[in-house]
Amino acid sequence: MKVIDHINQAAGRTLVSFEVLPPLKGKGIEALYKHLDPLMEFKPSYINVTYHRSEHVFKKRADGTFEKVIVRKRPGTESICAAIMNKYSVDTVPHLICGGFSINETEDALINLRYLGIDNVLVLRGDAAKNETAFDPEPGGHKYASELLQQVVNLNAGIYLEEDLKGTQKTEFCIGVAGYPEKHFEAPNMDTDLRYLKAKVDAGADYIVTQMFFDNEKYYAFVKACRAAGINVPVIPGLKPVYTKKQLTVLPKTFHIDLPNDLSNEMLKCKTDEEVEQVGTEWLLHQSKDLKKNGVQVLHYYTLGKPHVIANVVKEL
Ligand code: FAD
Repeated sequence: MKVIDHINQAAGRTLVSFEVLPPLKGKGIEALYKHLDPLMEFKPSYINVTYHRSEHVFKKRADGTFEKVIVRKRPGTESICAAIMNKYSVDTVPHLICGGFSINETEDALINLRYLGIDNVLVLRGDAAKNETAFDPEPGGHKYASELLQQVVNLNAGIYLEEDLKGTQKTEFCIGVAGYPEKHFEAPNMDTDLRYLKAKVDAGADYIVTQMFFDNEKYYAFVKACRAAGINVPVIPGLKPVYTKKQLTVLPKTFHIDLPNDLSNEMLKCKTDEEVEQVGTEWLLHQSKDLKKNGVQVLHYYTLGKPHVIANVVKEL
């Protein structure tokens, strides 16, 4: 079932959805099931599975020189989605990125998703590869999420890359895109970022899911700015717990977001990461309750290795 249908049929209820990473190569899918098992009692409407492109790394040879090799640490997004659907009878949303894909490979991936019975995709540009300073599209690939979105929209209209194919089947993907309550780090300003976000929605995105934020006021201001810009699709908040002191610097650096004063002060007072986790759980619960009270349609949790924190929060909700 499509994400947008879940939302439309919720009849005022606040839904929950979870986001997981594919297991590290060599770990096996059981590690992921162990992560998901404690969360399934909360009946998520759908589960997102992130996409991780391959990286170039330098491997030392016996003679002391280095060899450039390509490694993919977390392969399998599409098949993991199918496996989760099969095991838990829950809808899944694979993330699909521009980085590392030619448009032909993207089309093949979308055809595979269709064969697997997956109704949803979250289309993203992806970040720069680890050894690059800026995002560099694959030769013959997409530069922006909007271009990838257009390819999915075309396929939904039965338009494949071989335009002369006759009697083609239309796909029916529900399409999500990313939005940034604190602005995407490359955008010169919020207005410009919103203009590009609107272009994604006008081109056919069914909903927006946000980057994590720790101050709900930023989310509410973002939704207001979206509505003022003529963006009228659901804006699903992305929520993440803090659980280590290291995150005080890692989160702003990696995701270009701020942590509110009250939260960072509480974290700084903690002596152990267990205490930080307690602060993070309470903060996330407070955020979630406030969003629910304000009629937010879906709470989307980035579970990232901390399913028990998310479970404690959703249980309290
Ligand atoms: P875009 O919409 O293409 O925007 C990128 C930048 O370009 C923005 O600054 C925008 O303002 C600007 N822009 C957009 N269109 C144009 C245009 N036509 N001309 C000029 N400028 C333009 N990354 C992964 O690798 N895997 C994942 O699974 C993943 N999941 C994510 C899930 C969520 C909910 C979010 C918020 C992010 C996720 N990311 C993931 C990270 C994401 O790929 C990065 O944030 C990336 O830098 C931007 O992706 P985007 O889809 O927002 O890009």
